[in-house]
Amino acid sequence: MNQPLAPAPQGLAALEARLRQDLSWLEIPAKQWVTPRLVDGQPVLDVAIIGGGMAGLAAAASLTHQGIVAPIFDQSPEGYEGPWATTARMETLRSPKQLTGPALGLPALTFRAWFEAQFGGEAWDALDKIPRLQWMDYL
Ligand SMILES: Cc1cc2nc3c(=O)[nH]c(=O)nc-3n(C[C@H](O)[C@H](O)[C@H](O)COP(=O)(O)OP(=O)(O)OC[C@H]3O[C@@H](n4cnc5c(N)ncnc54)[C@H](O)[C@@H]3O)c2cc1C
Repeated sequence: MNQPLAPAPQGLAALEARLRQDLSWLEIPAKQWVTPRLVDGQPVLDVAIIGGGMAGLAAAASLTHQGIVAPIFDQSPEGYEGPWATTARMETLRSPKQLTGPALGLPALTFRAWFEAQFGGEAWDALDKIPRLQWMDYL
């Protein structure tokens, strides 16, 4: 039997459009539902997430999807959160590329979707471990 053709790159704009459609079908993000509160005349955050690495990003996105405002505060400049572009020494991730990571159960949010949108399915097949800086771009 013939192997299915590896998908050609569709571009990130097409992937974003697909993600928007998927989220819309799932009614995500939910409407904000926590009652706004003021303390000393200042609005109070529902949740503050300290650290915008993988865990903080996933937590913020997950809460936002559930209609809870959850801004991230990170001591590192934007684009340098986590170890990937700063303290990391290994050039690749340790996990195999098939582990989906912080995709929140949404296929269009996986590294593979992000990678194939730009480089196509043949490049995905040829990829061994994910380079750390590419992982940071994805995050
Ligand atoms: C080369 C390399 C390969 C790796 N491969 C894998 C792998 O394949 N799979 C895997 O699961 N893990 C891998 N790891 C481990 C990976 O680093 C962690 O899994 C991941 O970074 C944990 O995410 P995190 O959000 O918990 O923490 P981090 O990514 O470390 O993020 C924490 C964030 O919090 C911020 N922060 C900390 N304290 C404060 C504060 N007081 N105020 C404000 N901000 C603060 C930091 O600036 C940082 O941005 C690898 C690590 C390296 C270096």
